[in-house]
Amino acid sequence: MASPITAGKELKHYCPRCALDLWHTVIAVMNQQPVRVRCNTCKGERNYRAPKVQEIVGQRKRVESRPKASGSHPDFYQQKLRDAAMRTPKKYSALESFEPEDVVVHPTFGKGVVLKLVFPDRMDVIFQDSVRTLVRKAAE
Ligand SMILES: [Zn+2]
Repeated sequence: MASPITAGKELKHYCPRCALDLWHTVIAVMNQQPVRVRCNTCKGERNYRAPKVQEIVGQRKRVESRPKASGSHPDFYQQKLRDAAMRTPKKYSALESFEPEDVVVHPTFGKGVVLKLVFPDRMDVIFQDSVRTLVRKAAE
């Protein structure tokens, strides 16, 4: 246990006038807790408030880490769409055969462009959010 707080003891406390954590002298004690302190710097008196530890912990936000695609995915996607602009979009179906550069319209992922065929029956398609491997009709 720390030594009991008594009047005249010094402790660190936030001084709103100085806007800093500064040494304060305890000038009133109740139930072994400081209730009133005086800033050693500006001599301002104020009620003592216990440090809010929980508040500091609660402020720590978890940063969501999104896997970074190499290069800028949106730019690449837009580039692919421009390259394939002359092609007639095909409705996506696992029973359909596709070729690289084909424009695919997927009911869930939206518009995509076939990047490459993965044999025997898959293909990598770039969509607005990411590249997905979809099932396609196997090559004959
Ligand atoms: Zn002060």
